[in-house]
Amino acid sequence: MYVVGEEEIEALANVIRSGKLFRYEDDSECERFERRYADYLDVRHTGLVVSGTYALSAAMIAVGLGPGDEVLIPAHTYMATATAVLTTGAIPVIVDIDESITVDPAAIEAAIGPRTKAIVPVHMWGAACNMDAIMEIARRHDLKVIEDACQGVGGGYEGRKFGAIGDIGAFSFNYYKNMTSGEGGAVATSNDEIAERARCAIDPCHYYWTGRAEGIKPFAGNGGRASELMGAMLNVQLDRIDGMISAMRAEKKKIVAATARLDNLGLKLSPMNSPDYDCAAHVMYLLPTAELAARFVDVFPVVIAGKTGRHTYTEWDQVLMGIGAAHPAMNPYNHPDNADCRTTYSKDMCARSLEILNRTVMVPTHPDHTDEETDAIIHNIEAASQVALGGTSADEAATRPTGPLDPKKFDMGPSA
Ligand SMILES: *Cc1c(COP(=O)(O)O)cnc(C)c1O
Repeated sequence: MYVVGEEEIEALANVIRSGKLFRYEDDSECERFERRYADYLDVRHTGLVVSGTYALSAAMIAVGLGPGDEVLIPAHTYMATATAVLTTGAIPVIVDIDESITVDPAAIEAAIGPRTKAIVPVHMWGAACNMDAIMEIARRHDLKVIEDACQGVGGGYEGRKFGAIGDIGAFSFNYYKNMTSGEGGAVATSNDEIAERARCAIDPCHYYWTGRAEGIKPFAGNGGRASELMGAMLNVQLDRIDGMISAMRAEKKKIVAATARLDNLGLKLSPMNSPDYDCAAHVMYLLPTAELAARFVDVFPVVIAGKTGRHTYTEWDQVLMGIGAAHPAMNPYNHPDNADCRTTYSKDMCARSLEILNRTVMVPTHPDHTDEETDAIIHNIEAASQVALGGTSADEAATRPTGPLDPKKFDMGPSA
């Protein structure tokens, strides 16, 4: 989901004309964005970085994860959630999702072991995890919480923004996300020490320009510093985000209201943890079986959550193969401190998650949809439901062109 226009072109052109493309200068666009985004999220610090993957890695390094630690992550998320854990030397432990297609708090509780140090709730497709339950479990077991809010820019949980609830949050601004600078990411936290460690992970030499922080030792890390072009574009995108989210929420509300009558055929909305604060980039339905979900998308070609090709643990080759680093001596799966961690995976380890994902269909909204396009979507949901659930033949179920289903308007990427 992205909207880019003349304002971004203007902002980028201004930066290029100014000749100031490096962030550590006066009137920094990156700094301005970091301040504005911190206000927007209601946190003390944010840090801009080159990608969501890097933001997650920096966030996990910042909270102090390392060899000997296990980190609980959901079975349904982009692989960066898992690979970021490995960049710290820790081991990802994969746990089931529930029908909200976000991590199941009961599965978290059941998976906590003596080595568990952190939980990564992922607000998949902009829909909230059950943060009250997750924070309560984390407090009881003294676990860190790293929110993967890469798909949740602009959304929240019961009035608080995603990424501002746990110890630290990570965001992505890649091309398919709610807010974009082509590629990009950010971390957010209200903890001063975690923020300083994240800055070091993002740019180990940052103190050369910004000054050394009292009492905090630097450490070696890779470089993920953002450019002024990213900062400038994101300052424009930040002006757009609330309007986009409210347009998507309005469209979703209309679709949900109009398709409520299909309840008599057995069409059910997926349960949500905080529906009023959803990014509303999709309307999700939970079909009774995977076969019926497949029949639904035959008629109305939207996406089945379990079939995006890369958002489920069965697709995370490096993790399943135990290759946690480029060099074998740096591989967390070989590290002696990880000898007592749970390091074995199988493709059927979270069968319950796969079963739920394969019957969840996701109908995308878009902030630029016209009323006619929304009406066509509603019509097509009805046609697909009649075929999948009502026994109508596929020949009878005429669908209407929807405009918004242009794959470029999906926020899940071209292979979805
Ligand atoms: C997009 C995404 C990431 C990674 O972001 P990039 O900017 O593509 O590196 C991480 N986690 C989730 C859940 C994502 O959707």
